[in-house]
Amino acid sequence: MFRFVVEEIPESGFEFTRTLDAAWARPYCGAQFVAGDDGVSMHLKLSRAGNTVAVQGRLTGALTFTCSRCAEQAPFALDYAFTHLFLEEESNRSKVPKDVPDPEELDVTVFGGGEIDLEPLVGEELALALPIIPRCSETCRGLCQRCGRNLNEGPCACPPDEEDPRWAALRRVKLEGGHDAGPEEKDV
Ligand SMILES: [Zn+2]
Ligand SMILES: [Zn+2]
Repeated sequence: MFRFVVEEIPESGFEFTRTLDAAWARPYCGAQFVAGDDGVSMHLKLSRAGNTVAVQGRLTGALTFTCSRCAEQAPFALDYAFTHLFLEEESNRSKVPKDVPDPEELDVTVFGGGEIDLEPLVGEELALALPIIPRCSETCRGLCQRCGRNLNEGPCACPPDEEDPRWAALRRVKLEGGHDAGPEEKDV
């Protein structure tokens, strides 16, 4: 599914769609994302100029993730496009398939042996497509640092005037004035 003999790729290009199942996707999804039962759909277009192959791809799918702030599950609609060049050692970017925009800007893999393997590329692109610190919404309020309540569900019972001890320490330093050393960092 991922390996192609370069000579057999038509210069005019060809396209195909495959389903990558959730088990395949798992190593690239990190700790927070999980692909749904339908896996990830991969649409690829390969085209060739001499020994240079261009891969234009699109990954789509319904994933779920664990919110970085409130730890609830939330849906993620994956829709990610990428273009990549495979060059043989002696090739250069001056000869690329015609339908490739901005070849100077593209990431490149150098291959040998007359074959390309797309699996590492697709896995890496999937990993890049997923946010590093995903949130269930832009306005997620996260968990109360003291009682652990999910603040999206409403305020907790912690006293509202009890401020973060780091801010209190910082203000004390300012009031006292003249201290060069900052407040001691405390884990909360
Ligand atoms: Zn959240
Ligand atoms: Zn609380």
